[in-house]
Amino acid sequence: MDAVVVGAGHNGLVAAILLADAGWDVVVLEEQPRPGGAIFSDRTLHPDYVTDWFSAFYPLGAASPVLSALDLDRCGLRWSHAPAVLAHVLPDDRCALMSRDVLATAASLDNFAAGDGAAWIGLVEQFERIREPFLNALFTPFPPVRAGLTLARGMGVADLLRFARFALQPVRRAGEELFNGEGGPLLLAGNALHTDLPPEASAGAAYGWLLAMLGQTVGFPVPVGGSSGIVDALINRLKAAGGEVRLNTPVRRLDVVGGHVRGVHTADGEYIATRTVLADVAAPFLFDSLIGAEHLPARLLADLRHFQWDSPTMKIDWALSAPIPWAAEDARRAGTVHLGADMNGLTRYASDLATRTVPRNPFLLLGQMTTSDPSRSPAGTESAWAYTHVPDGVEYTPALIADHVERVEAVIEARAPGFISSVAARNVQSPADLQAADRNLVGGAVGGGTANIHQQLFFRPVPGLGRPETPVDGVYLASSAAHPGGGVHGAPGANAARAALRRAGLAGRAWRRALDSAYGRIYR
Ligand SMILES: Cc1cc2nc3c(=O)[nH]c(=O)nc-3n(C[C@H](O)[C@H](O)[C@H](O)COP(=O)(O)OP(=O)(O)OC[C@H]3O[C@@H](n4cnc5c(N)ncnc54)[C@H](O)[C@@H]3O)c2cc1C
Repeated sequence: MDAVVVGAGHNGLVAAILLADAGWDVVVLEEQPRPGGAIFSDRTLHPDYVTDWFSAFYPLGAASPVLSALDLDRCGLRWSHAPAVLAHVLPDDRCALMSRDVLATAASLDNFAAGDGAAWIGLVEQFERIREPFLNALFTPFPPVRAGLTLARGMGVADLLRFARFALQPVRRAGEELFNGEGGPLLLAGNALHTDLPPEASAGAAYGWLLAMLGQTVGFPVPVGGSSGIVDALINRLKAAGGEVRLNTPVRRLDVVGGHVRGVHTADGEYIATRTVLADVAAPFLFDSLIGAEHLPARLLADLRHFQWDSPTMKIDWALSAPIPWAAEDARRAGTVHLGADMNGLTRYASDLATRTVPRNPFLLLGQMTTSDPSRSPAGTESAWAYTHVPDGVEYTPALIADHVERVEAVIEARAPGFISSVAARNVQSPADLQAADRNLVGGAVGGGTANIHQQLFFRPVPGLGRPETPVDGVYLASSAAHPGGGVHGAPGANAARAALRRAGLAGRAWRRALDSAYGRIYR
């Protein structure tokens, strides 16, 4: 076998497609009985409702140059949009609404403070100018030399410096500099909290800005029929290229000899010989379990002890007999709703998480899936979910989880009286449930590791090169644990595949020698 991909998450599938396109014989081994990792939908909660069990909205996917290049629309992927992208509902029922029509977003923000609409339009115009080189720089391995130079040439040094300053700010500070009212800052801060970046985290502005600008320009689309539409399209694409996926096949160990990979051992005792392994797995699992400490530099193992997961997550899915009756009418049109906190509330929620206190006032990310795609449930009903972060270091007993579900539902009921009486079916996924469904979601972490700046770029997953190569020749980290991190965009998978193809090329040996010498300087 030319290459084995461990894990059929979307990153593993993207990696396999690129290798199969290059004519490689490639197999993807997946331990679960279904492919897709944290992308999966079905009708098991209620036969009339499609439930997205993990990820649901795909702004990064729609904007990703990696996924666009795969022509997934030709393999059956179709996108749907809610009438409005996102609503942030404040505790007093005011609402900041992001629509794909920038003037409509601006009008909503002007309700908070005159002039904030113009500030938003300025931000969007700047994003449109740098969008292509910025996304190319983000989605290529570190350092993004070519895309970075294009970005620098396009912006000019003076603007680039100011943009870097803006991006490195905490999102609270960035919001205060840009806007006078609460609406604009909350659109940025709520988006930053799609990761584990609270209002006071350094560089929270970068993520909040990116997701908000993508929401404004490409929307928060969902696949028609359920999130699994993405996986079905990737599998169709892989099969057309000649690749294969084997389910129910956990990989337990890589065969490493003298610093080179020689094959993989599956849990049921099968051995597959190969010189290339792309691992769509959690970083600590790859290094500690699949490769093993004896094959790795001591310094890398020491760095791994500092690897930080993002916060645990609890997710609730509902089949609702009616749309959610938001008092803030604008929220009825939005696919994604943020609620439970204004800016100070977000800070208090984050400080609860930091101090290992289960928040009494949880902040929620909520999805209205039938509003986003009418095929998800019968007309006049809603397929909905909400997730919220909870602290680590806490034992999530059934009683604690039940309490927290009550709190989450109370937050929604307070802004949409009548919500609870519309619940026809409910399922709760605790942090442990999430991990049981996909071992990469360690402790309920959704991002493959914190998105804080100390674990991004060339610090991801440990201080090093920010690249998919590992100190073991032929082994590549292809999951969201690698730069540029979590979300459905396919970049870690594509970067790993391209690195494997480069190694097989003419300059491959020289490249590997250069890498070995760099690893020697970093880890020994
Ligand atoms: C609740 C939740 C909500 C989210 N919401 C969004 C969202 O709306 N939009 C968005 O863009 N992102 C969202 N994300 C994040 C996004 O889903 C992930 O970043 C992305 O799916 C990661 O893809 P991946 O391929 O790296 O890993 P995964 O999707 O985790 O796939 C890894 C696969 O590898 C398999 N595997 C692991 N170890 C082994 C082994 N030893 N042998 C064989 N197979 C193995 C696993 O079973 C799994 O199938 C969300 C995540 C969660 C959990």
